[in-house]
Amino acid sequence: MTTCSLCGKEDLCFTCPYCKGVYCGDHRLPEGHGCPAMHQVREDAKKKVARSVGDEEYEDNQTWASVMPKRNQKRIQKKTRRRRFSSQELRDLLIACVLVTLVGISILGSPYGIVLALQRFAFYITSSFWWVPIGMILIFLLSFIGHELAHKFTAQHYGMWSEFRMTSMGYYLSAIAIIFSVPIFGTGTVYTSGTNNRDHDAKANLAGPLSNFFFASLLVVVAIFATIALSSAMLSNVLFLVQYGVIINGILGLFNMIPFQPFDGATVKDWNLSVWITLTIGLISMVIIGYLVIPMLYL
Ligand SMILES: [Zn+2]
Ligand SMILES: [Zn+2]
Ligand SMILES: [Zn+2]
Repeated sequence: MTTCSLCGKEDLCFTCPYCKGVYCGDHRLPEGHGCPAMHQVREDAKKKVARSVGDEEYEDNQTWASVMPKRNQKRIQKKTRRRRFSSQELRDLLIACVLVTLVGISILGSPYGIVLALQRFAFYITSSFWWVPIGMILIFLLSFIGHELAHKFTAQHYGMWSEFRMTSMGYYLSAIAIIFSVPIFGTGTVYTSGTNNRDHDAKANLAGPLSNFFFASLLVVVAIFATIALSSAMLSNVLFLVQYGVIINGILGLFNMIPFQPFDGATVKDWNLSVWITLTIGLISMVIIGYLVIPMLYL
């Protein structure tokens, strides 16, 4: 029998491995006695989970949940729901945005590379249609980053840990895309903790290509309204942007629907074949609309 150094209760007491204080059953956990070594507890919890996901560096409080007692899990999850991005993730997202922007500029020089792209960009940006290259970059960013964030937010919605990270392959592919004006845009990937729920896992995978389908559909609606409302000089520039966005999203979505791992399509197809077929047909339609139907609106 010892005495809890917090409440003074005589009980079977425990020694806190972090601050070495002696506490009763009610106060033995670090947060139960306001442990002065709380930062150390957090650090250990992070490491423990990081090892299990194979990523040593991320920072996220949500991971405590796995080492905290049940009664505290609800409270902690509520707390972390407000903080959706870790600092490492924000850094990687910023890098990805910069790279995707550069790829977006480089595409202007297609197929001659970055030098011509920069000349054309300079020409465009000083003309009265300066908003065309800006629009292209925005469409590129929304298509690409939107796809990744759709994965992330859906996974987080179902209570999974999920964060975007740059990959070394992503740096390599982006560099090639920027230098040679080719539209490959894999910069990173969304890591998601596993779940036993097959529906949740499949929906988190589905969310990426589905976001591209919705974005493309939205742009088709914009094309229809633009055709009704705009004068011809303005219209051709708007339709150029819309066509570009519809094709980019159709191809990006289709590419990810490839039914083999590690593509999103593999999980979706194994989960529900008709969902996979429907979305694939939808995305093919978008590519066809982009290449064949939108050019007809110029007439
Ligand atoms: Zn106590
Ligand atoms: Zn302690
Ligand atoms: Zn994806």
